[in-house]
Amino acid sequence: LTTVSDNFNGRNMQQLNPLLRLLQDLTAELDYDHFLQAVASAAGELTDSEAASLLEYDEASDQLRFVAAPWFHWDALQDVQVPVEESVAGWVCRNKVHRIIQDMTAENLPYYHAADRITDFKTHSLLAVPVMLKGHVVGVLEALNKTEHAHYTEEDVETLKILASLAALTLHARALEKRAKQVHDTQAQLNEMKSDFIAIASHELRTPLGLILGHATFLREVADEEYSEQLDAIVRSAGRLKEIIENLSNVNTVESGGARIHSTRFFVEDLVNEVVASFEKDAAEKNISFHISIEDKTLSLEGDVGKINIALGNLVRNAVTFTKEGGHVGITAEAIPGYVKIAVIDDGIGIPAKDLPYIFERFYQVESHLTRRHGGMGLGLAVAKAMIEMHGGRIWAESREGKGSIFTFILPSDTASSPNVFIS
Ligand code: ADP
Repeated sequence: LTTVSDNFNGRNMQQLNPLLRLLQDLTAELDYDHFLQAVASAAGELTDSEAASLLEYDEASDQLRFVAAPWFHWDALQDVQVPVEESVAGWVCRNKVHRIIQDMTAENLPYYHAADRITDFKTHSLLAVPVMLKGHVVGVLEALNKTEHAHYTEEDVETLKILASLAALTLHARALEKRAKQVHDTQAQLNEMKSDFIAIASHELRTPLGLILGHATFLREVADEEYSEQLDAIVRSAGRLKEIIENLSNVNTVESGGARIHSTRFFVEDLVNEVVASFEKDAAEKNISFHISIEDKTLSLEGDVGKINIALGNLVRNAVTFTKEGGHVGITAEAIPGYVKIAVIDDGIGIPAKDLPYIFERFYQVESHLTRRHGGMGLGLAVAKAMIEMHGGRIWAESREGKGSIFTFILPSDTASSPNVFIS
């Protein structure tokens, strides 16, 4: 502590001010390249040097590269690769300690100052400190030619070390930002490829599947009784395939912004009854009972009833699928300010908390493909979300493992206020 305070007392305010200014820049100025230039300028200014520069060490190529230098040298230096062997900066990099050379000519050094070869600059004296991050050298900060041929002091070393720490953090932040951008770009590219693949695959599969379904349905009508079981299986499976393909292209079209809404006004009770009717058979097989609660029979919505039917249908299908024998599935609908709120409640197996944030993503399933006992492709909720959001609504889930789940969506009761509706 004494040393630190002595040091600070020893430094006059004139020296501290530029440092404080730099620290302010670091928080205000988010352009890392400019900030690194500012660090190099401060290194020159605070050590009374003619110039200063910052080099970054690249482990892969074992070379140093200029990231900041005086503006009048920058054009010449920005693409220069400095080999670690034979250069002063390289020596500092290898040895992880600072180096002062008071007289370049006198010391008859086996290495050179890299920039001198390219620029007209002539280095007489030099102070170089390693830029360290977590024990690794990530660069070198140099001050060149202390004015009036004065010698570099221990105080100059301290100053450059402080600046080197700032440079280290900035280089690290810059590298992280670059990596985050790369990951983001790769992800966007993969997403686009996934969308293209789904669009092409579902388009190409639709035609032959339509033919299979058409011919099988025809054969079932005309063929002998003895083949009806096999033909029924073909029609059923082809129908299931068609559903999967429709689901696939539905999310895709909505995500790429290509979906349109055919809007009509309809009663919420009719929608709920229709959806429940289509799952009555499945529910009866598992002895699951439905409980519908719609207080206001006149509750109505304006929107694409087909698409909202798909969304609610997917929620009810899941509720029936993931609820054990003898369980209960409730459907409630009510008006809340500006919206109609519909919820599907079950007392089924529930969803683990760690999976809950992801269940609306395409292809996400709680059980792995290999161990799962239920069919499906992890698309039902993604489709439901797409259908609800294109109406300007919102959908979410609450669940407790082993207890049950509640899936809720809200749709604007006044479509004029919904931004996503394209009525055709
Ligand atoms: P899938 O069509 O494969 O069922 P979904 O997108 O509809 O896919 O659902 C994703 C996953 O979320 C399901 O695989 C299931 O694990 C879980 N899930 C969805 N609804 C429920 C529910 N009501 N109860 C328990 N788990 C559910």
